[in-house]
Amino acid sequence: MGNTLPERLADQLGRVDSVGVITGAGVSAESGIPTYRGKGGIYDDPDEGDRTVEALTGTTLKIDPDRTWRAVGELARSAVQARPNPAHHAIVEMERKANSFVLLTQNVDGLHQAAGSRNVIDIHGNIFETRCMDCAARETLSRERIAGIRQAPRCAACGGPLRPDAVLFGEMLPAGKVARLRSELEQRIPDLVVVAGTSALFPYIAAPVFHAARAGHLTIEVNPEPTYLSEAVGHFVQGPAGEILPQIAAALPGA
Ligand code: NAD
Ligand code: ZN
Repeated sequence: MGNTLPERLADQLGRVDSVGVITGAGVSAESGIPTYRGKGGIYDDPDEGDRTVEALTGTTLKIDPDRTWRAVGELARSAVQARPNPAHHAIVEMERKANSFVLLTQNVDGLHQAAGSRNVIDIHGNIFETRCMDCAARETLSRERIAGIRQAPRCAACGGPLRPDAVLFGEMLPAGKVARLRSELEQRIPDLVVVAGTSALFPYIAAPVFHAARAGHLTIEVNPEPTYLSEAVGHFVQGPAGEILPQIAAALPGA
């Protein structure tokens, strides 16, 4: 692994006290979970991509929950055996070193938590958790069962259909998590904001990055391909998260 961080950036990292990290599917790509868009994406065939997105909408969940669950099962099958990769571990190291730290992730695979990240805003939830669409009871099914699912499972309490406790396309974000994201990333802007592995198409993902860049804070994007954030950040570091994030973590002060 060569050192690819510019020297000027490494110096700036040595003075950072508070850190915010924003991640998307690209951070789990090196764990073997396909992304939706960009390099290694499952949507290289746009028709298939459209069909998957349609299956993963709140509307489809209401009219054909089995179809939504088949698409969730597919994502779960790639995630069930996956283990955290060096990118996830580097983010844990950043949290250990920083005096204040927050991680905002769009990933629904639970790998950040599995690696040991603590202050996590998983804004889109987790596909391995479920809740009842009728009585709202939460239920824990085994990860293997979710990965094998072909039709909507039923609630043990009332027999109603269970749904994944994840935000589907077109659904509202959980208000509590949105409030945390505003206060921890926008009202208090961390010294360093790192955005990695996301096409950042959702405005609430891009906003904290623009915010920090405008305020003159250190901003870094890590992605093998440029995105529309690349021009806005202070440093676009082109490459895989599993190679670049450990170098950023290593350059932070602290043991
Ligand atoms: P996206 O699929 O839109 O974009 C992935 C980005 O990752 C691309 O910009 C790509 O260039 C980049 N990338 C690919 N390999 C990388 C690597 N090794 N290192 C760094 N970057 C890499 O992902 P998104 O922006 O997160 O949006 C996808 C939506 O789908 C989210 O809502 C998310 O909840 C969901 N999703 C989640 C997972 C998961 O939990 N692992 C997987 C697929 C989709
Ligand atoms: Zn129920």
